[in-house]
Amino acid sequence: MRVFHTAHDLQNYLLETNGLDKNLVGFVPTMGALHEGHISLIKASRSKTNCTVCSIFVNPTQFNDKADFEKYPIQIDHDLEMLLAAGCDAVFVPSVDEIYPQGTTRQADVDLGFIGTTLEAEHRPGHFQGVLQVVKRLLDIVQPDILFMGQKDYQQCMVIARLIEHYQLPVLLKIVETMREKDGLAMSSRNMRLSPEERTSALKLSAALFTIKKNYKTTSLEQLLQEQLTWLSQDELINVEYLAAVNGKTLEPITTFSEDIPTTILIAAKVGNIRLIDNLTVN
Ligand code: AMP
Repeated sequence: MRVFHTAHDLQNYLLETNGLDKNLVGFVPTMGALHEGHISLIKASRSKTNCTVCSIFVNPTQFNDKADFEKYPIQIDHDLEMLLAAGCDAVFVPSVDEIYPQGTTRQADVDLGFIGTTLEAEHRPGHFQGVLQVVKRLLDIVQPDILFMGQKDYQQCMVIARLIEHYQLPVLLKIVETMREKDGLAMSSRNMRLSPEERTSALKLSAALFTIKKNYKTTSLEQLLQEQLTWLSQDELINVEYLAAVNGKTLEPITTFSEDIPTTILIAAKVGNIRLIDNLTVN
């Protein structure tokens, strides 16, 4: 496995190894602090391509909360070991200057419409602008055939689909299902910052989603959402930002379930000081 710190070196490697053959390049962008969820993306890439590139870059422009950025876990040696074991071919670990040689002011000019105003966009102003900016830059550098992203970041996948459409980028977006701990908690780099008590509370986020999914045929979505919100609010460590049933294609809210509309339930909550998100597709 090769590790690169500059776009130039990575691109030279890609040209040398792939330029002459008809190799397919898969790309997995991450912010590091890797877990089995990330590794499932590497495995998905390895099964569909013959060169897997992973990037590790904690992108400052997508953090609307400075403290969250400063406390974001960094464990590069451990990450490289995991990637090596998973069979990743190349890792790109750039500096902020390498990604933003002209500073961070220039942004991707993509009209996100409604998905740019709701849920995560509403609660994390500027977040998706930062995501668009960094993913556009990374795609320009790596120029992969297939981009692998996790359903765990449901709205982010939609935002990146818009980015690809807007710039007509020749890349296929593959969305990989969410990996969970045995008890149901969605794997996240932020989980390692939870205290044992917070970890117990955090489990209630996925439990609420699973309860809604189990009962949506017999109880109205409105009632289910309300019941779960009430249950979650009884835990003093949990502060729910949103719990919503939406059309999985448009993110428009849904109150009455219909088999014709793909429905997704999304949640964002702070558990102590740690902000977590999760989602579940209902039908
Ligand atoms: P991050 O390092 O949090 O920016 O995540 C990098 C990629 O891994 C994104 O495409 C995420 O959606 C994906 N990812 C994060 N957590 C999980 C998970 N539990 N299961 C599958 N993919 C995930």
